[in-house]
Amino acid sequence: MSLPASDLSKKADGRTTMELGAVLPETAEVRDDHLFIGGVDMVELARTEGTALYVIDEADLRHRMERYRDSFRANYENSDVIYASKAFLNKECARIVAQEGLCLDVSGGGELACALSTGFPASRVFMHGNNKTPKELDEAISAGVGRIVLDTRIELGRVSEIAGRHGVVQDVFMRITPGVEADTHEYIRTGCEDSKFGFTMREDFAFKCVQDVLNTPNVHLKGLHCHIGSQIFSLESFREAANVMVELMARIEREYGIQIEELDLGGGLGIAYQAEDNPTSIEEFARLTTSAVKDACTEHNVPLPRLLVEPGRSMVAPAGVTLYTVGILKTLPNIRKFVAVDGGMSDNIRTALYHASYEPVIANKAGQPRTEIVTIAGKHCESGDAVVLDGSIQHPDLGDIVCVFSTGAYCYTMASNYNGQPRPAVVFVKDGTYRVTTRRETYEDLLSRDV
Ligand SMILES: *Cc1c(COP(=O)(O)O)cnc(C)c1O
Repeated sequence: MSLPASDLSKKADGRTTMELGAVLPETAEVRDDHLFIGGVDMVELARTEGTALYVIDEADLRHRMERYRDSFRANYENSDVIYASKAFLNKECARIVAQEGLCLDVSGGGELACALSTGFPASRVFMHGNNKTPKELDEAISAGVGRIVLDTRIELGRVSEIAGRHGVVQDVFMRITPGVEADTHEYIRTGCEDSKFGFTMREDFAFKCVQDVLNTPNVHLKGLHCHIGSQIFSLESFREAANVMVELMARIEREYGIQIEELDLGGGLGIAYQAEDNPTSIEEFARLTTSAVKDACTEHNVPLPRLLVEPGRSMVAPAGVTLYTVGILKTLPNIRKFVAVDGGMSDNIRTALYHASYEPVIANKAGQPRTEIVTIAGKHCESGDAVVLDGSIQHPDLGDIVCVFSTGAYCYTMASNYNGQPRPAVVFVKDGTYRVTTRRETYEDLLSRDV
């Protein structure tokens, strides 16, 4: 794994921090050349709490949750928003999800345990996963989770057996791969035919499996689910998926004589990683998906189901930033300029994994224009270890605090201990104060499981 060649023709964009538009968390501001988020000085925060450090703008996060909830309710009365916890989850986040009146997606026993430990109501939990283990299914069913999203026929048998053992009837969804090609990176495209996820519609397989679910004891088919991918900009894919799903609901009603009460359209709304990205707003996404479902229900003559969506990234990514300290500067003439920071692929694997792009600034020079193009490399023993490839940034010096925007999703939850790196703390900032919601890992933590 190595870095893509640096684009030497690229010119720094000359923008100051506040000119970075859509990537800035809601409360970002610059005072005396320092970046503040939630009224807290990021430079001071880095010095007191250490780096690398994840910082979440709590007001931004809560407002995104409220905007999702309110815009779906305004367009579609019988709707609910589910927070996809794999994007970001710690106990404080689970508490906020509960306070904001959202439901919660979990994709395994660990996320479920986190939610339950905070008193999150199990009935509002949806469990996903293409290979939930029998143990995880048992944990979910005995906790009383609201829905289990069936991924395969093999799993149907397992859920039935476990529910029977607990003497309950488990509400289930079937995850359908609707054959919609979302316009996004292939690693995060999930709704196309060649996918490990869900029941394929090819050769009528999903439709035939509905009969199996209906004939299986201890499960109740409550709804259908699809999730076509992540970081999607083209809303047309969501409209297409809604159409395919409602058509399937209509056919199930016609041929099996049962009504599908709930329809879950998954997550996937894209966000701005680059200042010039122009993603669809939450409100526009709500308007489009709700009208697509209503139109399809009218066309196929089925009653409106309870509508669910499961955003993760678009709720939490823009609210989060990562702070680092510059430790090494290295210029290779005609090749690249490296700025090495005290983190990297252990706290943000997305750049190494699929060349994700981010906007960086120097938090202690936040009012100055970004005049250089650099590669922000990590500290790990991999050539491909970088956080930002060919990014504009203010002139860097040793000891500067680098802030990378839009890292609230799929960074902390994908973090590792590669090279024995303790994982960073997670700090929530709000109204001029901060609180550590997950403390930094210690060497003792790293060693605590070894015998
Ligand atoms: C990842 C995932 C989501 C959330 O996707 P985002 O792109 O983060 O909004 C929702 N539902 C399922 C089933 C997922 O796997």
